[in-house]
Amino acid sequence: MSPENIIIELIEKIPPLQHPRQDALPIRGSRLEGWLPDDDDEARQVLRDLDARGLAMCSRIAPGDEEQMAEAIRMSRLQQELGLEVGVHASRAMYGFFNGDESTAHVAADGSLFFDDTFGSRKMGCPFRLDHRKDDIKQQFRSFLDAYQEAGIEIDFLYLDWEIDGPIEWNGAWEHSKRCTVCREHIPDIDNFDAFQTALREIRCDLQRECCVEVVQQYYPEALIGNYSVYPHNGIRYWYDYYEKLPPGAPFIQDQRAKYRPWYHEFGPAGYTFANPVVYTWYATWSWYPEWDNDDYRWFYNLLKVGTNAGQHTPQTVPLITWVHWHTTAPPADAEPVPQMSEWAYQELLWHLYLRGSDGLMMWCRPEETTKEIALMQEVLDGMLEYRGFIGDGKPVVFHVPNDPGTVVSALQRGDRLLVRRTDFTDNPAPVERRIAGRRVTIPRADGQCQIIDLTTCPPID
Ligand SMILES: [Zn+2]
Repeated sequence: MSPENIIIELIEKIPPLQHPRQDALPIRGSRLEGWLPDDDDEARQVLRDLDARGLAMCSRIAPGDEEQMAEAIRMSRLQQELGLEVGVHASRAMYGFFNGDESTAHVAADGSLFFDDTFGSRKMGCPFRLDHRKDDIKQQFRSFLDAYQEAGIEIDFLYLDWEIDGPIEWNGAWEHSKRCTVCREHIPDIDNFDAFQTALREIRCDLQRECCVEVVQQYYPEALIGNYSVYPHNGIRYWYDYYEKLPPGAPFIQDQRAKYRPWYHEFGPAGYTFANPVVYTWYATWSWYPEWDNDDYRWFYNLLKVGTNAGQHTPQTVPLITWVHWHTTAPPADAEPVPQMSEWAYQELLWHLYLRGSDGLMMWCRPEETTKEIALMQEVLDGMLEYRGFIGDGKPVVFHVPNDPGTVVSALQRGDRLLVRRTDFTDNPAPVERRIAGRRVTIPRADGQCQIIDLTTCPPID
């Protein structure tokens, strides 16, 4: 499907929101990019039609590509004229620190240079030989930021999907660094994975802060800036990206067949201004957990853990925008199919993400999945907008994730009022009780609905 066909189909098949969005965050997505009609009036109409559906386009930044930069600036200019948020996807300005040059390679004891080829096509090199790459990357940012400033455009939202580049501790990185004299000199305790992880992530944070965040903020101090998969958390990552493998000897926390990883706290030192966790139905997830009576919970359990981790640790003042994806994500070629998470469970998950602190949603998908993915998200956004006051302002107050299929409760507190979602994975008809804000709160079963509960009617806990 072409970008044009995707956008046209979205406008045809997704109904406008029933509830006004006001300034709640729109849905953004990897396919809400890359096309507008050539005619300005038609282009404005497309942007308005998407906005009426709670959807926002991002311009794709492409430093050095004049034609694509002109398209990006045109889309942003039209958005600004219409009073819509100006959003840009700037990944291409951030790639690549590891550009394949020998000056970025590891150095063996005999002086020979080598790269780590366990990350696919990018030649990953020495984390300690990247300083000289910073100026090029900063210049890539400045080149488009200058153009935006000259055009009088204010950027409101900038995201990166910067993944396979710069220091990363997974796959063969540890083993390669152990063979590098520069790495060994900088990390005397390199046999300790924690020391290795900390050293690499410190550099990774510096690259993001110095080359992206601080540069963008010189132009647009108020912009929301974030990167895929960088978010506050409890020190544990419950998911693996499609390219990540746990190296032999690295520590992990076992939960059934899942191996969760200790994770570095990147969000603060990288300097981003919105949190950007990833809640995807990764193919392997389903096989990690036992054959519960309810198949959906094998997805839901993990995804809620990931979303909760971000929601619980992201300060109320930091916008939390969660990447989501419903269709089973990145199944290996020739893999045995696994049961798809049901639409019901996925939409319940989205409700719980909102009620555990997400302020907005983003979505990556394959082109042909776009309309279905957006339809599932947009229904929940519209439902959530009925309770608009709770988005951003409501404080998440329930974070429990049941260890097996049961009753899941999430809630946002605003003053004395709670917005509550209860989802049951069994046929339990009974009310459940949760302790919230010093009160004993009774929550009746209410399938497919939110409940507003007045805290002052709930008995205090002695
Ligand atoms: Zn090295």
